[in-house]
Amino acid sequence: MIILNNNKITYNSINDIPDDEQELIKNAFMATNNSYAPYSNFHVGAALLLGNGTIIKGSNQENAAYPSGLCAERVAIFHVMNSYSDQKIKKIAITARKKDSTDYIPASPCGGCRQVMLEQEQKQQEKIEVIFQSNGNWMKVFTIMELLPFSFDKNSLK
Ligand SMILES: [Zn+2]
Repeated sequence: MIILNNNKITYNSINDIPDDEQELIKNAFMATNNSYAPYSNFHVGAALLLGNGTIIKGSNQENAAYPSGLCAERVAIFHVMNSYSDQKIKKIAITARKKDSTDYIPASPCGGCRQVMLEQEQKQQEKIEVIFQSNGNWMKVFTIMELLPFSFDKNSLK
């Protein structure tokens, strides 16, 4: 385990990650089985831990009209907005694999998802932790602000 700063930790191995977070990662990886990714063959799964302990999964959904698809993270977050609107999101685990593979591959959340995560964090007024693989290491950030500094947000519209 390497503490990079107050908001970020990296783990050399998934086995070094706390058990409850490994469980969340496993749920995210299970979600890759529901991914619809016939164009990229890049199957992404996200698992969200809610305040009441519920785990909500999402997977990427592609479309022949490419921009019509949506990332795993946003599929899961928007589902929470609709069906668990009284709950706060505590943690998000993100995983990915290639089609027909069972190996984890790095998947850092895209800019659009970081934007949605940030707004959720601001809305619920409680930090969201994100766990994902980056450059071979597992990384945990303790706030979305770490993923999206100098952000455009609701304050920008005032
Ligand atoms: Zn995304």
